[in-house]
Amino acid sequence: MRKRAITVIGSGIIGICCALKLQSEGYKVLLIDKNEPASGCTSGNAGHFATEQIFPLANKEILKQLPKILFNPNGPLTIKSNYIHKIAPWMIRFLLVTRDQTFQKGTQALRNLNEATMDAYKPLLKMAKLEHLVENKGYLLAFEGTNAEKLARKESLTLKPYGIKNQLLNGHEITEMEPLLRNCEASLYFPEISHTTEPHKLALGLFDHFISIGGEFEKHEIIDLHNNSDKSIDLMTNSNTIKTEKLLIAAGAFSQKLLDKLSIKTPLDTERGYHLMVNQSHLLNRPVAFAQRKFIITPMSNGTRLAGTVEFAGLENQPNWKRAEMLLDHAQHFLEPLKDSEKQDCQKWMGFRPSFPDSLPVIDRCQTNENLFFCFGHQHLGLTQAAISAELMADLIDGRETQFELSPYSIQRF
Ligand SMILES: Cc1cc2nc3c(=O)[nH]c(=O)nc-3n(C[C@H](O)[C@H](O)[C@H](O)COP(=O)(O)OP(=O)(O)OC[C@H]3O[C@@H](n4cnc5c(N)ncnc54)[C@H](O)[C@@H]3O)c2cc1C
Repeated sequence: MRKRAITVIGSGIIGICCALKLQSEGYKVLLIDKNEPASGCTSGNAGHFATEQIFPLANKEILKQLPKILFNPNGPLTIKSNYIHKIAPWMIRFLLVTRDQTFQKGTQALRNLNEATMDAYKPLLKMAKLEHLVENKGYLLAFEGTNAEKLARKESLTLKPYGIKNQLLNGHEITEMEPLLRNCEASLYFPEISHTTEPHKLALGLFDHFISIGGEFEKHEIIDLHNNSDKSIDLMTNSNTIKTEKLLIAAGAFSQKLLDKLSIKTPLDTERGYHLMVNQSHLLNRPVAFAQRKFIITPMSNGTRLAGTVEFAGLENQPNWKRAEMLLDHAQHFLEPLKDSEKQDCQKWMGFRPSFPDSLPVIDRCQTNENLFFCFGHQHLGLTQAAISAELMADLIDGRETQFELSPYSIQRF
């Protein structure tokens, strides 16, 4: 017997995985997006299944470094002057996450998601025949300077209690793994980390499979929402009203705009990030992140992607392409073959990471309408956590027991 219908707003990696999971379980799913599928933040990420990133971004070390970071124009974090007053309350919440107990709870909540993530991806990739898009070559976290080995050792020790396998490499061992990499004095090698050289194609492949098993996609911008007395929800577009029995909001960084229509408040904001695509391929065998400069280089099928940086400037300000271009200056320091690359020849991209101050997503059911669900706020880890979020969402919607406690991801926590 066919199960009930559900509408999902947002066809990023989160909405696509949720829609595919639900459709494959027998739901009749309508996926709605104002743009093409997978064209938002999902289209340009670094392709790193970052399951080793189990700590909230707010930590005591960042707290110490914050003034220095903020005053460095080429630094990893910046706040646009016209956005300082808007982001201030978010920042205060961010700083409060560094309290020991909050940080520990956040770590456990991120760990639960990340530990389950690759197993959750397997059935989705298998059904969509996309396993070939995921490579299991590990990942390097590189350190530079005279303190490199000390810092790498410290990071390794921090991760050990959590069972995240990593191995300390010296300069010579790094060169054996990545012959073109220079200026890294020490590195941690994470053998169990996977990546995709085609993050956009991966999301589109999952979307195509969703359509092939009967899922529907419609292109609309949802401009208003209305809760009806029978707990159904009306979605308003510029031209019509879509009636829906159950609704899942997975609109990434834009989700709060929809929640505003229902008078639901959360501190969701956006950490804008950039990438620069360099035409040269085969420079690296696996993703390499640079611990101090906080950016990543990933070998992609169509070139090399330099990605990262955090910019607080909201959803309306124009991109600041200098944030993307500076990634080339950093990358040239580590990869000799990039020395002749010119910024103007590289393709630039900006994405809106959907971020809460505590680095955790919202995966929840609405308290006042049991037909309304939320799945957004996956910050730097949306690709990583999409499949497990979809699994948890499907359990929640279907009233099944979830594989772990969902209270850390509650919308009520703010
Ligand atoms: C530079 C960079 C590098 C990254 N690298 C990684 C990485 O290596 N690994 C990792 O795990 N994560 C990474 N991320 C994070 C990851 O890309 C995001 O967390 C993820 O893409 C968020 O997916 P989403 O589906 O929530 O949002 P999105 O992909 O933004 O999708 C939201 C969708 O909702 C639609 N929408 C919004 N409002 C409406 C509306 N009113 N009506 C209809 N549709 C609407 C939008 O059009 C959009 O398509 C990176 C991010 C950046 C910026």
